[in-house]
Amino acid sequence: MGETPGDFDSAILTTEAIMAARGDRHPVPVDRPYAFFVEPERAAHGGVVEVATLFLSNSECPFRCLMCDLWRHTLDGPTPPGVIPQQMRFALTRLKPATHLKLYNSGNFFDRRAIPQEDWPEIAQLARPFAHVTVENHPRLCDDRCLRFKSMLAGRFEIALGLETIHPTVLPRLNKEMTVDDFDRAVERLLAGDIAVRAFILLRPPFLSEVEGVEWAIKSMDHAFSRGVTCCAVIPTRAGNGIMEQLEAQGHFSSPRLSSLETVLTRGLAMKRGRVFVDLWDAQRFAHCSRCAEARIQRLNRMNLSQAWEAPVRCRCEARP
Ligand code: SF4
Ligand SMILES: [Zn+2]
Repeated sequence: MGETPGDFDSAILTTEAIMAARGDRHPVPVDRPYAFFVEPERAAHGGVVEVATLFLSNSECPFRCLMCDLWRHTLDGPTPPGVIPQQMRFALTRLKPATHLKLYNSGNFFDRRAIPQEDWPEIAQLARPFAHVTVENHPRLCDDRCLRFKSMLAGRFEIALGLETIHPTVLPRLNKEMTVDDFDRAVERLLAGDIAVRAFILLRPPFLSEVEGVEWAIKSMDHAFSRGVTCCAVIPTRAGNGIMEQLEAQGHFSSPRLSSLETVLTRGLAMKRGRVFVDLWDAQRFAHCSRCAEARIQRLNRMNLSQAWEAPVRCRCEARP
């Protein structure tokens, strides 16, 4: 199951090389989030809640992670003050009711170029009707600002941090400018401030075979839970930013298989240490059999919501020669 990628010339992993491989940005509107919707999610207290998720249009993240394509939907300068509350109002007046709110900004909520600090009081005010608010942030940007913003909120506060992988040689090659210790320190600090933490975990980042990709996603979840993270969201690694296509062409990256996503969710749920979700956005692209793909994705979606294992989908494609 899966090849083992060969040695890699680390010289091409620089920020400059990652930037040079980029294609064009997709223009995003400044007066509204570039996407917004309400979707169900299993909450920490059990039960399924409606979550309003806003993908805010804002300044690009200052980091240059190898696998990241979120810069494609960002503004090319600092976010002007006032536009984030304006975007929230635009979306929240159009969405159906929800109890939880995710403000995802393709970067770091506590990067002042992305989310101007003078907008915090209005953002917090607009978030007031929600029992739970989640934002995303880089572990190295988790400082007292997180606590100050939390103090303005009425509901529970959660910060989503990219752990990505604890693989000792792959994490440095992701150019995330973060160590596992940085992640651990951020989690400790946030938990001490009564801020819940969810972790993003990559399934099969570059330089790993399919088997290794599964193994390290499981190890990374285990690590995150051991630090007090209450929710792990597993993201299948995707090409799409230029450098990932180059790595793919050189045999250093292949997209994970849908079956690996199934394995990781099964193993994560079996840990019984917190919620585990697998990202099913465009999950069809990871399927290798058109007969069973839809049924497999629906099963994963039900398992995301129930946090309970279900018997696997059976299909002729599993027959080994
Ligand atoms: S920190 Fe997050 S948003 Fe920024 S480049 Fe890395 S993965 Fe992308
Ligand atoms: Zn099949």
